[in-house]
Amino acid sequence: MDKNSRIAIIGAGPAGLGAGMYLEQKGYENYVIFEKTDHVGGKCHSPTFDGKRHEMGAIMGVSSYYAVQDVEAFTGVTHDGPKLQRVFRYPNGKIDHRFDKKLKNLPHLFKLKRQIKKFGKLLETKYKGYDICGHIGVSEGRYEGFAVSPGREPVSGVNPNLKDLALPFKEFCELNKVPLVQEVWIHPFTSFGYGYFDEIPAAYVLKYLDFQTMMNFMNNNLWTWKEGTQSIFEALNSKLKNPARLNSIITKIVRGEKVTITVNGEEEVFDKLIITAPLQVGKIDNPIAQGLDSYLDVTEKERELFSKIDYERYDTFAFNVEKEKYPEASFYVVDHMTPETLGHGMVFYMRWKNEPNQPLISYRLRKHKNRDETVEEYKQREELGYEETKAVCLEDIKKLGLTPLKDKDGNDKIVYEFQTYYFPHVFSEDYAKGWYEKVEALQGENNTYFAGEIMSFGDIDETLEYSRDLIERHFA
Ligand SMILES: Cc1cc2nc3c(=O)[nH]c(=O)nc-3n(C[C@H](O)[C@H](O)[C@H](O)COP(=O)(O)OP(=O)(O)OC[C@H]3O[C@@H](n4cnc5c(N)ncnc54)[C@H](O)[C@@H]3O)c2cc1C
Repeated sequence: MDKNSRIAIIGAGPAGLGAGMYLEQKGYENYVIFEKTDHVGGKCHSPTFDGKRHEMGAIMGVSSYYAVQDVEAFTGVTHDGPKLQRVFRYPNGKIDHRFDKKLKNLPHLFKLKRQIKKFGKLLETKYKGYDICGHIGVSEGRYEGFAVSPGREPVSGVNPNLKDLALPFKEFCELNKVPLVQEVWIHPFTSFGYGYFDEIPAAYVLKYLDFQTMMNFMNNNLWTWKEGTQSIFEALNSKLKNPARLNSIITKIVRGEKVTITVNGEEEVFDKLIITAPLQVGKIDNPIAQGLDSYLDVTEKERELFSKIDYERYDTFAFNVEKEKYPEASFYVVDHMTPETLGHGMVFYMRWKNEPNQPLISYRLRKHKNRDETVEEYKQREELGYEETKAVCLEDIKKLGLTPLKDKDGNDKIVYEFQTYYFPHVFSEDYAKGWYEKVEALQGENNTYFAGEIMSFGDIDETLEYSRDLIERHFA
């Protein structure tokens, strides 16, 4: 490809800014990143309260986040944030000891440990190739991509067992006779908003929580950033030759030999287009996302594929509690991580140790796909209401023994709210029918490339890594 090609990138989250960085490193400097809001970082969102940055979006990484390491090297930012502290609690506030080796159920813990070990071995052997970047070939029983390692060497092979990854993670674990591992994988998955194991294909669960990453979680070997995860992307943006153009409202994109974009009422012409914004088409009942077809001339093929995408309704709010009731650490409520407890608070996150008055952040989910409904039926069914679940969550907080501070009118005081378009994905049926192979076959058609969360997984590293992968493949 001509290194002077003019390239438009839609979105200045990790995927879009990462695409800019990797393009530059390949010698493509004629790119423009369009961002519709007045800031960069997307779901890495770290607002300042009382002089300190907090996390309303992404919180942490691990040492196997190699693409994040690329960004750290490019910007000089380091993971210098507070260590994550956590305890488990029952919904009534009592400490939940089920994972405490000293106090509870040793035979169960030994069984669990054996299954985790077996699972690690299975992933390495039976599911060889499961942890490469992206999903190319998986539904056809092969793998093709870049290995997840510092060197990210290209690998490929045939492995018919990989087809099992289309199954919901629950079925996948049962098939492999390691059902107990769900008890451990669930904490950084369901409570982090990625849905329930009876609805989400194993491919996604293991894209994020590959064995290496999961062991880092278990050993609490996690990274945070003092100035917030958003600061990594603010630094990246400021180091790029072409920082993002903020407040860019795109109303129309027409593709032909060239790509014509109408932005803030003016037309601009490009050679190539990389979309990291949501690909879902149609009306999206979400305040931050718009259907791709509301501004792009989507083809029939794109419409058919992108209509299969769904996302998680994962919302956060911040509140303060009475000083003397301040918890000693963040806490997980494992009993709230089931489809039956949809809408309840699953995690309460406290960023700084020994600092009362800082806000706690609560996390909840609002929709679940039942196994017996089709994707269409599920899509037509209503989700739990935003305000309704906020109220449920506030009640949870009180049951946990915390008292939220009140505002001047005597209502529970909410310091900040963040509603997102979270973890776009497809369900097992479409995954098994080759959704990814069909979308990957479209890369480059109409001068258009697709990146961002849906193409691999909704975490910082996977989105950055996919942008790197895309540029390696298509922008030689
Ligand atoms: C509460 C929460 C906790 C999380 N915790 C973690 C964590 O601990 N670790 C982790 O790795 N990940 C975490 N994540 C996930 C991580 O933040 C996302 O996966 C990542 O930010 C996705 O990057 P992206 O660039 O694909 O999308 P986004 O971050 O969503 O960025 C997309 C950007 O595109 C812009 N945009 C959208 N439409 C348009 C348009 N039409 N025109 C122009 N611009 C547009 C948006 O404004 C946004 O800036 C968390 C997310 C949330 C919300």
